[in-house]
Amino acid sequence: TESLATSDPEIFQSIQDELGRQADEIELIASENIVSKAVLEAQGSVMTNKYAEGYPGKRYYGGCEFVDVAEQLAIDRAKKIFGAEYANVQPHSGANANQAVFFALLQPGDTYMGLDLACGGHLTHGSPVNQSGKWFKPIGYKVRQDDQRIDMDEVRDLARTHRPKLIIAGGSGYPRIIDFKTFREIADEVGAILMVDMAHFAGLVAGGVHPNPLDHAHVVTTTTHKTLRGPRGGMILSRDAELGKKFNSAVFPGLQGGPLMHVIAAKAVAFGEALRPEFKAYAGQVVENAKALAASLVEEGLALVSGGTDTHLMLVDLRPKNTFGNVTEKALKRAHITCNKNGIPFDPAKPMVTSGVRLGTPAGTTRGFGPAEFREVGKMIAAVIDGLQKNGEAGDAQIENRVKEQATALCRRFPIYR
Ligand code: PLP
Repeated sequence: TESLATSDPEIFQSIQDELGRQADEIELIASENIVSKAVLEAQGSVMTNKYAEGYPGKRYYGGCEFVDVAEQLAIDRAKKIFGAEYANVQPHSGANANQAVFFALLQPGDTYMGLDLACGGHLTHGSPVNQSGKWFKPIGYKVRQDDQRIDMDEVRDLARTHRPKLIIAGGSGYPRIIDFKTFREIADEVGAILMVDMAHFAGLVAGGVHPNPLDHAHVVTTTTHKTLRGPRGGMILSRDAELGKKFNSAVFPGLQGGPLMHVIAAKAVAFGEALRPEFKAYAGQVVENAKALAASLVEEGLALVSGGTDTHLMLVDLRPKNTFGNVTEKALKRAHITCNKNGIPFDPAKPMVTSGVRLGTPAGTTRGFGPAEFREVGKMIAAVIDGLQKNGEAGDAQIENRVKEQATALCRRFPIYR
């Protein structure tokens, strides 16, 4: 019965401070969002107390009748959003969802293909420090040097040479729509399974402003907390219910024990929101805002990887400004703009330095920013980077303070969790 504020004031304060940070800073991390109060409420619920190993109607514990309702709603809503025959909403994270697909389809040492990390792929698509790289044999395909788009000819050549069991499309730093149809043709030609990891753009698919990878892929994995605007978590989808049985066994009992029922309830809430017409408008706005931010950055003389974006994210190439991702991330943070340093394709700088920053519009759009606000944000970013170009990594304190005031004013105009 004791409140958090009195039972654990230190943690209470850290949460208050985090709320303050989210309220007062412009969030441009492309993988983040701001969930609804309803999602927070479901996730902070008594469902955290419940063990429910198994699946709805087939549990290894008693007392699952109400968590079954929540999980079945999450499954049904996910299937409806994406036109799937099968959904598993239990993966604790996006990485776990990917691991489950590997566990279901591959043996250690098997060959598969994924987008090279340096070209925008995810750690779990074959990085040498990840299990996907240590226990399996990843063949990384790249983007072209000239236009930084995925080179489908290279994908086809590599597939013919290496005969992978699995081909992964999708990534964390690729700003363009991926040609799923050609990926499937290549997979069929070499007898591979096509997995699309739509973690980044799932919300855009849900909102109908991005092609649906389920139209082509055997299996689609995703996180639920990025553009989809749900709680942190993962999910596996397919139109092949037989394949789905393998994924179910891989998630439980293959990899996980008890599912996080409070998170699954929150996933159901977020999926319910994604089915509403407002979410279509939101997803459309995310993409329109990304185009506005990209255009504003280009007008200010900044270069973008692949020249722009089709999605919610873009990569700024800082080389023309003679600065780096790490110092730019820090300078923008001083000005109350949050983003992350990110390698660009064929980056000459080290991974902890990088020549780029990744920017995204999902969180800003949730708080109500439109194209006008994002154009202003583009100008603010360019001003801070000009300070770095002029003064080195110390930046220009005067510019940064002015931008911080602008950022604060913008955030006050569009408050969160009122
Ligand atoms: N897949 C992609 C494409 C991602 O971008 C991410 C997260 O950054 C993941 C998987 C992993 O998700 P999580 O951080 O929930 O494990």
